Amino acid sequence: MQLSPQAGDLLRVIRSGAPRTRAELGDLTGWARVTVNARIDELLDARLVRPMGAANGARGRPAGRFGFDASQGTLLIADVGASAARVARCDLNGTVLAQDTVPLFIGDGPDTVLGLVIDRLESLRAPGDAPAWGLGMSLPGPIEISTGRVVSPPIMTGWNGIAVPELLRPRYDLPILILNDSDAMAWGEHVRSVPRADDLLLVKVGTGVGAGIVANGRIVYGAQGAAGDLGHTVGHPVHPREAPPLCRCGKTGCIEAYAGGWAIARDLAADGAAVTGLNDVLRLLQAGDPRAIQRIREAGRVLGSGLALAVSLLNPSEIVVAGQLAVAGEHLLSGIREHVAANSLPLATRDLRIRTSDSPNEVGVTGVAHALADWILAPEHLAATLARL
Ligand SMILES: [Zn+2]
Repeated sequence: MQLSPQAGDLLRVIRSGAPRTRAELGDLTGWARVTVNARIDELLDARLVRPMGAANGARGRPAGRFGFDASQGTLLIADVGASAARVARCDLNGTVLAQDTVPLFIGDGPDTVLGLVIDRLESLRAPGDAPAWGLGMSLPGPIEISTGRVVSPPIMTGWNGIAVPELLRPRYDLPILILNDSDAMAWGEHVRSVPRADDLLLVKVGTGVGAGIVANGRIVYGAQGAAGDLGHTVGHPVHPREAPPLCRCGKTGCIEAYAGGWAIARDLAADGAAVTGLNDVLRLLQAGDPRAIQRIREAGRVLGSGLALAVSLLNPSEIVVAGQLAVAGEHLLSGIREHVAANSLPLATRDLRIRTSDSPNEVGVTGVAHALADWILAPEHLAATLARL
């Protein structure tokens, strides 16, 4: 099916809000009525929009409203973490239709991990489903955004240099979008925020530390896709040590080397606690262990000094803390608040909200699904998306 470029523009307007009447769409686009009508007819023919109720005007008969028909296709989504993936089948609005979780170990490499993820994704499909229009996946490592290639990941053994879409394409002749996990979560928080936070910083604190940036209502990938690599910027220690600690990336003194789950585990083990990794840290935290709480509070301060710089550069309205250590809540947030307030301009912090994620387990899937839908339905890609069907 051939759509005019303007039909794609109109679809973007229709997808951006509640169902609207022809007159409202004319006001929003500035187009003449005849143009609006012609473009709506195209979108109706393509079954991308459908009538959705009527608006009661001041006079005359009610005017029909038109909205995006998200049921025509599905999105295959996987939010892949270090030890588990959440997979979902969504409609074109990113609403989850079916989902499941797959345990895995990211260091088993792409063949094993992608095999597990694909098997579970396929098990979510049922006869009679709308066709898949695209596949989106987030991964816990640096992703070259133009190619979906994993580049020098700290924890993804066997993935370096792997262009994930190339591995998936023999199985899926679909648009395939690969995102970094923190970028996906940041976008998910943006989509879920009420009122909509167009400038938002997400910090994922788990075993490692990563960040995703939404600025002016867009994900900031940077030139290659490496934007938001907060964990490997220089950290300012609470207690200056003789030598900055070695990081997993090979440098010394990174924020992650003080505040990542692995670093907290290292420090607790040095304190004499029986700790080998993040799960042990979380166990001690739950038990109210004062050493664990103190180390997590110190981690919050190191994160805060790094985030203060980010706040000065980006002036977000929200900082959202996600990842497994977000369950530490105020123990982690208080140091962030303190250092951000002390080291940023008052104008940048006056209305700044610093909080943990309300839906840490779902927000990655939400972010990938919405980023994928925005991509395949964008005016410049819509014709190609429809041509594949
Ligand atoms: Zn590092």
